[in-house]
Amino acid sequence: MDKLLLPESLTIPSVEEILARMDPRPSDKGVLLIRKAYETAKEAHKDQRRKSGEPYFIHPARVAWHLAGMINDPATIAAGLLHDVVEDCFLTNPAIKAQFGEEVAELVEGVTKISAINFTSETENQVGNLRKMILAMARDVRVLLIKLCDRLHNMQTLEHLPPPRQRAVAQSTLDIYAPLANRLGMTRMRTLLEDLSMRYINPAEFHRLERKLAVRAERDQRIVEETRRLLSEHLERMGIPAAVHGRRKHIYSIHMKMKRQGLRFEEVRDILAIRLITDTIAECYEILGIVHSLWKPITGFFKDYIATPKENGYRSIHTTVIGVENEVTEIQIRTHEMHQIAEEGIAAHWKYKEVGGSTNGSWGSEEKRLAWLRQLVEWLQDVHDPSEFMRDLKRDVFEASVFCYTPKGDIIEMPRGSTALDLAFRIHSQLGYTCSGARINNRMASIRSELQTGDVVEIITSKNAHPTPDWLQIARTGRARNKIRHWLKESQHDLFLDRGRRMVLELARQRIGGAFEEARIDEILQPHLGSFNVVGLEDLFVEVGCGTIKVNSVVARLEQVLRPVEPRRPPKAQRRPGKKKDVVLVEGMAGAVVRMARCCQPLPGEPIVGFVTQGRGISIHREDCAAFEHIRARLGGAEHRVVHVEWGDASRALQKAAIRLVCQDRKGLLSDISTAVTQLNVSIVGSNSSSNIRDNRAIIKLVVMIEDAEQLNRILTRLATVPGVLSLSRVVHDR
Ligand code: MN
Repeated sequence: MDKLLLPESLTIPSVEEILARMDPRPSDKGVLLIRKAYETAKEAHKDQRRKSGEPYFIHPARVAWHLAGMINDPATIAAGLLHDVVEDCFLTNPAIKAQFGEEVAELVEGVTKISAINFTSETENQVGNLRKMILAMARDVRVLLIKLCDRLHNMQTLEHLPPPRQRAVAQSTLDIYAPLANRLGMTRMRTLLEDLSMRYINPAEFHRLERKLAVRAERDQRIVEETRRLLSEHLERMGIPAAVHGRRKHIYSIHMKMKRQGLRFEEVRDILAIRLITDTIAECYEILGIVHSLWKPITGFFKDYIATPKENGYRSIHTTVIGVENEVTEIQIRTHEMHQIAEEGIAAHWKYKEVGGSTNGSWGSEEKRLAWLRQLVEWLQDVHDPSEFMRDLKRDVFEASVFCYTPKGDIIEMPRGSTALDLAFRIHSQLGYTCSGARINNRMASIRSELQTGDVVEIITSKNAHPTPDWLQIARTGRARNKIRHWLKESQHDLFLDRGRRMVLELARQRIGGAFEEARIDEILQPHLGSFNVVGLEDLFVEVGCGTIKVNSVVARLEQVLRPVEPRRPPKAQRRPGKKKDVVLVEGMAGAVVRMARCCQPLPGEPIVGFVTQGRGISIHREDCAAFEHIRARLGGAEHRVVHVEWGDASRALQKAAIRLVCQDRKGLLSDISTAVTQLNVSIVGSNSSSNIRDNRAIIKLVVMIEDAEQLNRILTRLATVPGVLSLSRVVHDR
């Protein structure tokens, strides 16, 4: 049975069942309101059926049931019960107001408005739709809570719709509702929505991962039991009350982690997490001590979100240890209240509010949390290009923006990952140039400090402060980095000139070798200055020196001209020229240096033709290669350089090998990697790469044709020296 399709989503909960989920139970007045709403909705929907044939009332009653588990507010539960009556039944809004009061009527109206928004329609409407939705939410977040429970139940009963409609609903859930739930700290809701959506959007992968998890379930269970046993023993001895639970990552997050980091399922480490829930913050830290005395913590994974909560209000201690059976295990420690807030987010705040107080419009304590909503509303006023806006919204607003405040209270939006230094440059260039530190939330902080939503940031300047080259690493935004580079170039012109020239010479010597004529550099580069977008050679070196122009690309130009025709060290030159060992036989030239052309990447057996290049041996193209036709035409036939070639015996021994590289992404990375490989006379027959913007990682997969393991080792050794390559491995089973 599918865990997500809880059996109860198909039955009508009684009003008692709904009330029983509320903790503490509401006042008599509240109970009365809910009972009345229950009866009214039941009567209003009595002749309606769902697509599945079941009575329609299942839906609003289930929505109210979900709400009751999240929020302790009778008006919200009543509105949940009544959320579809205006649209579908005879009840009008004034009638609801007369029977249930203004608060309930406004909530129902808000939900009705949002429900009229069709997120699966044209992009053009999306912006307007989103604006309506955000406006309704900004006024009262309870509207969104009801809407989310409505969506949750619809997702749980989605199988009764036709498949194209299922996918459309699932996609909008994933694009709009799950990120909103996340923003409001509602982890449980978000994970449910994500897994339910993935089930319809990518069913094959969903079920594949489900099966993979089932395989390891038994071991996971054993590890949880043993961890729980050990912890309970120690906790008891210390007299600390705590509940210990085992938990596994939800399927969608495993899927995304694999996708973002290019991992296979077996490589995902923290599928299992142990959660300890206790009473007080002091006990949380005591438990942390116990955990670290039992198992070795892995450095770099400890996070104290109790001292520094996440922007959506999440608080907890996280640590990752080498746990039972040497399993890398994440351990989360939190209080009951933190747990409630972590699971239910904004909804949980109702539980911790004073009982009996007025609920109407009392989101005062949530001011800060909702500041982003208001900011969003303001920002929405300036939208011109809807498709661009939607893209930005999904990526930048829901995932990748932080909103900070100046001491005066102005809101500044920055890309996620921005530092205090970025903010300084954002406010004013001069503030950036003289920035020496920051005061964040009234605490002194370095210019490296990463900004979080809600931070109040004051930039501190000093007469003596000025940009230094390491600022280029500290600043993350393009704007700040450009300004810093500009300043450095102006003020440290000679330093960069010197450094740039040295870099070019060093790499050129290394690549081209002894025959390299230093004196000709100027002459060779002169005609290329335009293509580097600089006016003089000096400028070129300065740009190289400060990193705007890659030294590789400059040396590549030199190489084309300066590389001697005879390769410096012909690979395997010591080998006796003999037909048996050649991969490609070149007519009239035994043991010639050949390389497979990148444009058509010929494979053994395919008809081929050779082309004598200047200084790079003979490049082998497929006979039908269009790029090669192009070269020939451009060189006016160049028939004297075309040679007859055929596959030699050794080609049969060639085999494909796949290499996987994890890299720190940077400009020119892929080209440096392929240059490194082709320099070893190895042809690349396939490559793909994916990058993760958030941590700037790139996963690159290369498929190469190799002769033997020794050659593969040489490739791996060479690749390891390419700047940015963090780790590499041979992929044995190439899917
Ligand atoms: Mn509904």
